[in-house]
Amino acid sequence: MEQVFDKKDYDNGIAIVGGGASGLMAAVIASSCGAAVRVFDRNAAMGAKILATGNGRCNFTNTKQSMDYYHSSDPKEAEAVLGRFDARSVCRFFHDRGVVTLNRDGWMYPKSQTATTIRDTLTRAALKNQVKLLGNKEIRSVTREEDGSYSIHLEGFSYKARAVILAAGGSASKQHGTCGDGFSFARSFGLSVKKPLPALVPLTVKRDPLFHAAGVRIQGRVSLLNQEEKRLATMEGQLQLTDYGISGIPVFGVSQKALRSLEDGISVIAKLDLLPELSSGETVEQLEKIFLAGIRYDPLDTGLSSVLAGIFPEKLSHVLLKKAGNYEKMPLLALQEMEEEDFHQFIKKLSKVIHHYRLTVTGSRGFDQAQTTSGGVLLSQLDVSHMADPNHPGLFLCGELLDVDGVCGGYNLQWAFSSGYVAGLSASLYIREINAYD
Ligand SMILES: Cc1cc2nc3c(=O)[nH]c(=O)nc-3n(C[C@H](O)[C@H](O)[C@H](O)COP(=O)(O)OP(=O)(O)OC[C@H]3O[C@@H](n4cnc5c(N)ncnc54)[C@H](O)[C@@H]3O)c2cc1C
Repeated sequence: MEQVFDKKDYDNGIAIVGGGASGLMAAVIASSCGAAVRVFDRNAAMGAKILATGNGRCNFTNTKQSMDYYHSSDPKEAEAVLGRFDARSVCRFFHDRGVVTLNRDGWMYPKSQTATTIRDTLTRAALKNQVKLLGNKEIRSVTREEDGSYSIHLEGFSYKARAVILAAGGSASKQHGTCGDGFSFARSFGLSVKKPLPALVPLTVKRDPLFHAAGVRIQGRVSLLNQEEKRLATMEGQLQLTDYGISGIPVFGVSQKALRSLEDGISVIAKLDLLPELSSGETVEQLEKIFLAGIRYDPLDTGLSSVLAGIFPEKLSHVLLKKAGNYEKMPLLALQEMEEEDFHQFIKKLSKVIHHYRLTVTGSRGFDQAQTTSGGVLLSQLDVSHMADPNHPGLFLCGELLDVDGVCGGYNLQWAFSSGYVAGLSASLYIREINAYD
């Protein structure tokens, strides 16, 4: 039989601060267990950020799961939470509600290739369970009352609840309603927050000739090195060169490590390999071939960058030749007249630049361009089997607000859904228990 809640039920129910991926999942799970749930969000509509995910297609999880894809100060705790509602469970959750999925080498999307499918599935499931989705409600603070209940304060008004789930996200992507309020709410309950930093974000680097190749996209590998030349992280994929630094999925993938290292006072070099499919020796052979072919078939006043454009876009060829030793304006004629030894030196220098292009990382494009937040509320102080604050019964937390972040590939939504599931389930059990005593 359908449950009918009146206002009193909601006052004795669960208030969720934030109607994003984790808050909506928590709402669906808690209400499925019979709790009366209200979700508050400052945006008019719920799940605004979900609509932006995966370029509007929503890469909602990944079938390949291991802690190698996540960062946290407490990986064991994070892993335990992820295991409670894993990628298979997330897929089943959406399948059961009519979503057909698409598997792209483990990266999971709705077959519709539209993020609204995921957002609407969550909101419909919540509404079906009579969850009150309250948009345009900016929460100012959350307090615990003497009787153990909670007050959710808006400007000039407060709501009551028996339990609260903080699901207000991190600081990334303010345009979707997240500017770090959740951290203030958590701190007001005495919870420690590891300094939030942008993650999955383009990196800025010290001014470099590579800025002239802005707009070039190229398959490559980025490795981060510390001052002792120790490799901190590495990732391969499509690099995007810009007029401030580097971007693209592999750069997003190493950005967390780069920014945490800078925060810890470690200087960071981003070493680009712009031809990772070839060894240095193979590149030397390849370069010799194309320049000798150039000498044979091109007019001898042709610039070297036009010949190198057989491998790289011309803008980038120009930069690589400059970096190798100001060869960018040299005509083929000059190459033809070179001593054999000088020719080999030139090829070797060029190969080195191609495989070891070094940039000094200075920072990032900030939270506005970040897809997620690294750092946040430390898991070590929580009872993670319930996603609860042990010092404040009835207070639960989930999502990006916590000190867990993932690389690209659906890992951040997976964390939001796993932690939202545990928080929703635990909050509903808590409500059931205290209402049984009342
Ligand atoms: C452009 C972009 C693309 C992304 N693509 C992917 C992807 O393809 N796959 C993936 O796994 N992850 C992706 N992510 C990351 C992922 O979207 C987030 O990690 C995830 O949505 C976090 O869920 P959450 O519920 O913790 O927080 P959010 O989804 O950020 O939700 C928090 C909600 O709380 C609300 N809120 C905050 N403060 C208040 C307040 N004071 N009062 C009321 N409401 C408040 C906000 O309005 C917001 O709706 C992407 C992120 C961005 C920005």
